Amino acid sequence: MTHPRPAEDDRPVLVLGPNPTPNGGMHLGHMAGPYLAGDVYARYQRARGRKVVFSTGTDDSQTFVLASARRLGTDPQELCRTSTELIREALDAMGISVDGFGPFDETYHATVIDYFRELHAAGKFRLRTVRLPYLERTGEFLVEGMVEGECPVCLTTCRGGLCETCCHPNNFDELINPRSTVDPRDVPTVREATILVLPMEEYREQLTAYHEKWAPYWRPHLVQMVRDVLSRPLLDLPITYPLSWGMAAPFPETPGQVLNAWLELIPAGMYTSSYAAARTGRETTPGQLWLPEEDTRIVHFLGFDNAYFFALAHMALLMAHGDRYIRPESVLTNEFYELESEKFSTSKGHVLSVQDILKEVPRDLVRLYLALTAPEYQRTTFTRAGLAKVVGERLAGPWNRLAETLGKAVANAGGDTISLPVSATGRSLAATMLERFDFHYEMPNYSMNRAAEAILAQITRLGRIAATLDGRGLDEEPDAWGDLFLQVRTLLAVSAPILIDLAAAARQAGGFDGVLAPGAFDVPDVVPFAPPLLPVMPDSAGER
Ligand SMILES: [Zn+2]
Repeated sequence: MTHPRPAEDDRPVLVLGPNPTPNGGMHLGHMAGPYLAGDVYARYQRARGRKVVFSTGTDDSQTFVLASARRLGTDPQELCRTSTELIREALDAMGISVDGFGPFDETYHATVIDYFRELHAAGKFRLRTVRLPYLERTGEFLVEGMVEGECPVCLTTCRGGLCETCCHPNNFDELINPRSTVDPRDVPTVREATILVLPMEEYREQLTAYHEKWAPYWRPHLVQMVRDVLSRPLLDLPITYPLSWGMAAPFPETPGQVLNAWLELIPAGMYTSSYAAARTGRETTPGQLWLPEEDTRIVHFLGFDNAYFFALAHMALLMAHGDRYIRPESVLTNEFYELESEKFSTSKGHVLSVQDILKEVPRDLVRLYLALTAPEYQRTTFTRAGLAKVVGERLAGPWNRLAETLGKAVANAGGDTISLPVSATGRSLAATMLERFDFHYEMPNYSMNRAAEAILAQITRLGRIAATLDGRGLDEEPDAWGDLFLQVRTLLAVSAPILIDLAAAARQAGGFDGVLAPGAFDVPDVVPFAPPLLPVMPDSAGER
C-alpha cells in the first residue's frame, strides 16, 4: 500500500471544530480539545499558503441546553444567548482563528431543514414505533441530555442516545436504571412513540468501506470504537423525537416532533463553512463547499465522546445523499482533559474557564502548555504546577536567554543591519527543522503534543549554541552567528501556529514574514535581528 504524502496536498481545506453547546461557557478542557487543535492546524495550513476556511458555531437545539437551563432555573433561550457570548469571548481570548462563527439564524435553520427534507423526499427514513423513557409527572419524554442511566455496553453512567465513555449509541429504552438529569429522583416509565429513523444497517457496507479507507490515518481509539460498533447490529438512528426543545421536524408523519439535534451538525458545518468563507471574501451557498467539484478536503476536530455521531451517524446521512457531498478525510479525536487529575465539572464547581486562566497567565504560555499536554491519545491533566514548571523552565526562561543573547549581539554591532552569511550546514539544519515540523503539523501525523515538544527541544538546542557565542561580536564569528540567526528565524516560523503573540512580535521585529513555503530558509545570508521576548509567568499563578 502506498501512503500519500499529504504535505504535498495543496487542495483548499475546510477545518471544522464541533459546534459548542451553549449551555455554559468554555473551560480549558474544551479548549485543549478540538478548538486549539483546529486553530493550530488552520494557522499552519495558511502559513503554507493553502486556502483555509475554519468555522464553527453553536448548536442551540441540543437537549443539554434545556436540561442545563432547568437545573439553573433559567430560560433556555437566555442561556443560549449568554453562553454563546461567553464561548465567542473565550475563542477570541485564546486567539482561535475561526474565519467565521456562524450565528444560529434563519440560514442555519433553512440549511438544516433542506438537508433533511431532501432525504425525506427521497424515501430514506422509516417510521418506527419505539419505547421511550417518559416522565408521568411532567408528561414529557426524556431522551438525550434529559435522561441518564447506565450504558448498556460499558455500564458507566451516560446520557440517552450516546455513551461518552465507550462512545456506543444506546437507543430508546436501553439505558439501565434511567433517571432525569434535571432531578435524579424523577424516574421515568416508558411510553410508545412513532418517530422517523434512518436504518443504519442499510449503510453498513458503505460505512465499512469509508472507515477502512481512512482508518490507517485516524487515531487508534476512534478506529477501535468504529470497528466495535460495526461488529454489532447497527441501531436505527432516530431522526425525530417527540420533544418540546429543538428544531421543528417538517414531516407530515411526525407532527409536533423535533429533529434529533445531534444530526444537525453536518448541515450546520455546511452552513458555518459557507458563512466563514464569506468572511474570507468568497460568497457561496451553504453546502457548495462540500460539493465534489470544489476539490476540497475536510478536516474535522472533535472530542472522542461524540465521535459515534461524526464517524458513523453523520456519515450514514451523508451517504444517504448519494455522491452529492464529499466526506471528511481526517477525523481527529481527542480524549478528556482533566483539571488537577479530576474531571472538569461545572456542577461541582471544579472548572477553570478560558477567561479566568488568561487573566492570570499570558496567552502564548497557556497555548504552549495546552498544546503540549492536550489529550490526543489518552486522558491527560492540566495542573497549575505543571504549567508553571514547563513555561518557566523549558519555554520562557530559555527562550528569553536565547533572545537576549541575540539581541545583545545585535546591539553591540551598533545597530547596523549588516547581513550575515549562512553556511550549507546552517541551511541544511533550517531545512531539517522545517521538514520535521511539517511532519508534526500535517495530516495524518498531526500532533500538537509533538509540535510543542519539538519547539521546546529546539529552544534548548539553539540556546546551547547561543551560549557558546555569547559575548562574541557578529563580526568575530559571522558564519556561526549567521547559521544561528537563520535557525532562530526558522524556529519562530514553525512555532507561529502555537506561539501566536511571539510570532506577531517577531514579524514586527523583522524576524520572519509569516510564510512557511518549502525552501523559505534556503538563503545565502540572513539579517540579524533582536528576537522578541516571551512574557514570564506571574509568580503567584503556579502556586495555588
Ligand atoms: Zn458505554
